[in-house]
Amino acid sequence: MAVRCTGLVKRYEDLVAVAGIDLAVRPGECFGLLGPNGAGKTTTVEILEGLTAPDEGSVDVLGYRWGTGHDHNLRERLGVQLQETQLAEKLTVGETLRLFASFFSRARPVEEVIRTVGLEDKRQARVGKLSGGQKQRLALACALVSDPELLFLDEPTTGLDPQARLNVWEVVEAFVESGGTVLLTTHYMEEAERLCDRVAIMDHGTILSLDRPAALVASLGAEQIVQFELRGDLDPSALATLPGVGSVAGKQGSFRLGVRRMGEMMPALLSELERRGLVLESLTTHQATLEDVFVHLTGRALRDE
Ligand code: ATP
Repeated sequence: MAVRCTGLVKRYEDLVAVAGIDLAVRPGECFGLLGPNGAGKTTTVEILEGLTAPDEGSVDVLGYRWGTGHDHNLRERLGVQLQETQLAEKLTVGETLRLFASFFSRARPVEEVIRTVGLEDKRQARVGKLSGGQKQRLALACALVSDPELLFLDEPTTGLDPQARLNVWEVVEAFVESGGTVLLTTHYMEEAERLCDRVAIMDHGTILSLDRPAALVASLGAEQIVQFELRGDLDPSALATLPGVGSVAGKQGSFRLGVRRMGEMMPALLSELERRGLVLESLTTHQATLEDVFVHLTGRALRDE
């Protein structure tokens, strides 16, 4: 395994940030920790990166434990992108990468890394003048300059626009394609679905579910999600017996159905509402996603935005 941890626990006074986590990341896979803010993702990766010591549990990275005389060797083989990388604003892109390259005995040529992340036009630009997306690509380049086997990325695209996000995804995909292993954290389910071979859904310091994205979605037992609001109230159990319905959640006139057969369910729903004299305020449907898996597991949305 590229990374293995068992029984990880980290406490900050009364707060349990990581509450007993077991993980194994396979060589060559892109593994994601998906969860909302405060779920414990950053604390977990910081422990795996050897930056924070756990209160309990054990960590193996590329076959070694931190603090057993192999830390230097391990650092040479890892690429780490922290959540908010603070780079010196006055240095240029090229100078920043040459500085990072100097930390490693076997760094990649800086020019090659600049090409990998598509910053050729910005080689001479100062860090302070880069856009958010360009800064993020430079941070990724700094993590790639050591020619790592294993790349840790903490929320690599938070706050980026869709184009900038796509650029980062392409760099990560190329890294995995070339045989690298990635462990990333994200609160974007689109990112987890697109990049990750397997995803661990985290909340309150624990892993709620872990599998391939498609298998997690399939575990819902519903291909479509129907959300609707009613004027007037209805006991959600009245909807569970409608044909084609897999799951029902609802309160205060707002409902969410996991649906297996939309063609059967929809007419039955409409006639049931009519029979009860209830009026639809709104109704939307969408293909089930990892977001729905999270809602199903926690009763909350992954993101508030
Ligand atoms: P985010 O996406 O916001 O970074 P996260 O899932 O990465 O969220 P963590 O940063 O690991 O979550 O935080 C988990 C919990 O631990 C949070 O409640 C956070 O406030 C708390 N925490 C993290 N670092 C510290 C610290 N140094 N001291 C005290 N509490 C901390």
